[in-house]
Amino acid sequence: MHSQGNTYLQTIPSILFCLFIFVLGGPVTSVAQAMPGSNPLNPWPALIREAEALGLPTQFLKEIDPEFVTVEFADLHTYAAEYHPEDHRMILNLRLSFNKAGGALAALDRMTHHDLNLLYHELLHAYLDFIFFGREADRLTPQAKHLLAFAQKQLQCHYRFIRITPIRQRKASTELRFLSDDDAWEALNETWAMFVGWAIWTKLELFPDKQTFGQWTPQHREQWGDRLAQADRQGEILGYYEPDDPVERNIARKRFLAPSHGITIQGIQLLLETILSESPDIVAKSKAIINTTRETVEKPLSCGES
Ligand SMILES: [Zn+2]
Repeated sequence: MHSQGNTYLQTIPSILFCLFIFVLGGPVTSVAQAMPGSNPLNPWPALIREAEALGLPTQFLKEIDPEFVTVEFADLHTYAAEYHPEDHRMILNLRLSFNKAGGALAALDRMTHHDLNLLYHELLHAYLDFIFFGREADRLTPQAKHLLAFAQKQLQCHYRFIRITPIRQRKASTELRFLSDDDAWEALNETWAMFVGWAIWTKLELFPDKQTFGQWTPQHREQWGDRLAQADRQGEILGYYEPDDPVERNIARKRFLAPSHGITIQGIQLLLETILSESPDIVAKSKAIINTTRETVEKPLSCGES
């Protein structure tokens, strides 16, 4: 199953159990309409059509073979969603299904901003699964190749030899960990998915009017910067992993990365450009913000990576 696209992981990555830091509230009754023309077994084409109509990013979704991912629904309690790389299966909370019935994906324009955050978080997992395992690297687009190469590099270092925060709320109290292949893969996946979900949610909050969605003004850019600074300082976009090591796992089911091992500036740039299709000025603003917020944070551990 594992294609030549992957030159890093030798085993099937474990299931990604996706936490969701936002409160899963919101009017459930708002999800009352299925995507028009959607096929429960192959929701991809309708999903792309609807996302496009809302001005949400779709370029990366078009890269994924529509047959690659299966979408299912379940009455999840512990986690908001799950992604199973072994059979490329996404399990979403029933809230995201038409009438909460678990049959088909609900219409995107009826989902809450939190639900779209969750959906895009999972879609990023699907994309990374696809570019790592779903297609030979030489058949990927140049953008996907670039992202894959960057991800592989980060798996060697930034998400390999890390600091964690044993107590999530105490960000200054950190411990070192050397992660397994699988845990590093999970840490990267969840970190990047947290950022993509956050970016979608934030943009939806900044542009409540569908008619002007995505039409950035200087005020919007300022607000984006303020929100990004706040999210980074408060650890809202920090990733996590479930330790492979049973001893470690007995202590904590999930380990949260310390701020020093949050998403890197280059990671933010690539995700904004490749996944979120944002403009150069939003990329520049975001990089400048993270440069500032990270000034007071411990430096990432040195292993020869920029
Ligand atoms: Zn996740």
